Amino acid sequence: MGRLRCSRVHNARRDVHRAARTRVRGRDLDQIQMLDLDSKRRLELEAQPLDFEKPGLAQHYCVECAKYYETDTALTSRWRGKVHKRRCRQLKEPAYTIEEAERAAGLGRETRKPVSTTAMLMIRMARCR
Ligand SMILES: [Zn+2]
Repeated sequence: MGRLRCSRVHNARRDVHRAARTRVRGRDLDQIQMLDLDSKRRLELEAQPLDFEKPGLAQHYCVECAKYYETDTALTSRWRGKVHKRRCRQLKEPAYTIEEAERAAGLGRETRKPVSTTAMLMIRMARCR
């Protein structure tokens, strides 16, 4: 098979195929924003019990990236890195919501006019004909 990816799209994503697999799918940005960044939940995530299935026994977790690291050094060097900083910037932006999608499609509340009862009757009369 030929090349599946266009050239000059590297952009710090090491393996696009691996990132697209649902088996390793991480948490979405809106999930992190709404649930994980809450201070109580954050403390819970950063002080997890020992888990032998997770990298580094689940002791070095980055909340913003939703990722486990092997060592504390790896985690702190991650915080200094470009990818982590970009992720933090993305998390500061408001999450894309259903309301916003509806507004973009012209289904938002501000475009919908309140229908009066006389107008409703007129519509019903027109339908009956
Ligand atoms: Zn991070």
